[in-house]
Amino acid sequence: MTTLLDGRIALKHGAGGRAMRTLIQDVLLAGLGSGDWIGADQMDDGAAIRVGDAWLVITTDSHVVQPAFFPGGDIGRLAVCGTVNDLAMMGATEPLGLTCAVVLEEGFARESLQRVHESMRLACLESGTTIVTGDTKVMGRGEVDGIVINTTGVALTHTLVRDAGLHAGDRIIVTGTIGDHGLAVMATRHQLGIEGTLRSDVAPLNALVRTAMAAAPGAITAMKDPTRGGLASALHEMADKGRVGVVLEENALPVSDAVRGAAELLGIDSLHVANEGKAVIGVRADAADAVLRAIRAHPLGREAAIVGTCLAERPGLLVLDTGFGRRLIAEPEGEPLPRIC
Ligand code: MG
Repeated sequence: MTTLLDGRIALKHGAGGRAMRTLIQDVLLAGLGSGDWIGADQMDDGAAIRVGDAWLVITTDSHVVQPAFFPGGDIGRLAVCGTVNDLAMMGATEPLGLTCAVVLEEGFARESLQRVHESMRLACLESGTTIVTGDTKVMGRGEVDGIVINTTGVALTHTLVRDAGLHAGDRIIVTGTIGDHGLAVMATRHQLGIEGTLRSDVAPLNALVRTAMAAAPGAITAMKDPTRGGLASALHEMADKGRVGVVLEENALPVSDAVRGAAELLGIDSLHVANEGKAVIGVRADAADAVLRAIRAHPLGREAAIVGTCLAERPGLLVLDTGFGRRLIAEPEGEPLPRIC
């Protein structure tokens, strides 16, 4: 693998695709072992440890987005939503609390930190949780870029949902338009002049997921949030772990005009671009309409759609049906845009 041939970490190793997965498997999981829990080796959205008759779900995430403030949100909102969403993707929709560790660069504006804190506070209110402990470090000028935030979250659930649970016949729901976060950040970073029309979708999905799970108990077979690497990366991982093929219907994919335009301008496929307020949900075919209706009734799910179907054939592969024919979508090496979350 190119991962360690040159002995150095590249940006792609943090970009959510094949390069990152290989690095984690080869280096970071070495010797950790596995047991009667859902651990790091499963590479799900979080870990799950048995506590009595429930599962304690725990997840952690570091946020390095550049710029720290972007249309639709900032690094504070992102840090809270990223962690709340990873818990929700495991079926744990009521976060008990979050931790927050902040690393600041000497010279970072106090007023900016206050804005970030206020965003975190509001996102916690929105998702029904709070920050219960934290840590603050300051590094010298040039030793870190502005601000880095790590959040960890814990929640209990009786209904654990994995990203590995897809079965042949399941339908795939996407809870809204794709590519919004990545392209909004990119357009701002490079001052493309199209920022006005692009907004990040960063939002806490726990209430939406709770609604979806309640609409058809037991019918949701798999969930994942399509963050770095976008929908293509998330579906590749789900298809691979579930040993199913996934056929994605291009015409059914919700994409905003602004994202379509920006993606074309930049020559990037929105299928590969990060989302921060969307979920990919696998659901038994007989319950797909009921779950879709419930999601659409939630303000964050109005543009949800059934976008694909799982097959027994071609396990691990993602196929795009364009309406004119079918082609394979390769697993992305990584998110095309670095420092996106
Ligand atoms: Mg995730």
